[in-house]
Amino acid sequence: RVVVVGSFNVDHVWSLAALPQPGETLAGTYRTGPGGKGFNQATAAARAGAQTSFICALGEDVGGQLAHALAAGDGIDLRDLRSDAPTGTAGIYVDADGRNTIVIGPGANAELSAEFVGSHDALLGTAQVLLSQLETPVESAAAAFSAARRIGALTLLNPAPADAVASDALWALADVITPNETEFCAQLRLRTGATLDPDTLSVLPDAELHAHCRRLLGHGSVVVTLGKAGCFVSHADGALHGDDCAYYRCPAAAVKAVDTTGAGDAFNGALAASLAATGEAPFAAHVAYANRYAGLSTERVGAAAAMPRDAEVRARFG
Ligand code: ADP
Repeated sequence: RVVVVGSFNVDHVWSLAALPQPGETLAGTYRTGPGGKGFNQATAAARAGAQTSFICALGEDVGGQLAHALAAGDGIDLRDLRSDAPTGTAGIYVDADGRNTIVIGPGANAELSAEFVGSHDALLGTAQVLLSQLETPVESAAAAFSAARRIGALTLLNPAPADAVASDALWALADVITPNETEFCAQLRLRTGATLDPDTLSVLPDAELHAHCRRLLGHGSVVVTLGKAGCFVSHADGALHGDDCAYYRCPAAAVKAVDTTGAGDAFNGALAASLAATGEAPFAAHVAYANRYAGLSTERVGAAAAMPRDAEVRARFG
């Protein structure tokens, strides 16, 4: 079982010719749908074939009802703290060049507590993999990760969004971290003071990138996702998780990407599901599956809605 602790948002998206200026009133094309890194990753884990539970906080409103309906549709076991605050929302303006301006209303997401997560001890005891991000309070993720430590489950931390700060306690409890290029450089600056240009990571010599990874997380494994360049894996211990080398690159799948929104969420959910299902395979095999899964997700428009099913990934890539 995969247990995801994280955020649910209702996304409100306006497509406009140009981004609005102060005082302006503009008409645009509107669409709405589910979002939030936690929910996207839980959807990916479930569709990749894992029994999935999602621990989150929702308001008593239509957003909360939407989360329940969507989770039920994907067979996700949803455990929600009912908050007086509204369900999380994101207002997104996209201009004709694809540039965006985003406003987040964390709402109920900010209320997710260590106590609520801790009240699901029995559920956490059945997990092989715990997955969390930084869109909900760090204490809630840390509570889940400490429970995982007690039962020997694997903890995956996706340190996103890039400007969020993880506590030292949470960092110490993460077995694997999965930043994208921007998040990697942001966390490196925050935690070590070192500055790196995110655009240079995919061409940096492997030994150098490995050294940066080790500076960022002394213990455990770092998986840096590199968009169409796939990902880079760095282990603290060369033999960790059945891999025979301490660091390596894993190429992306050959796909025709049309929308990379949520590609990182697809990668995280699929990696968690794969690790939970066949823990015996080398880590490299799980990462390769996550690349294929995330690659296929980029051929479809949307985030949670674009997550493929395991059978589709296998049919496409064998
Ligand atoms: P994020 O969505 O967080 O910015 P990335 O852009 O690094 O994350 O993408 C996550 C994963 O999605 C990559 O490691 C890769 O597996 C897959 N991916 C993203 N963009 C592409 C692409 N253009 N072609 C193939 N795979 C992609």
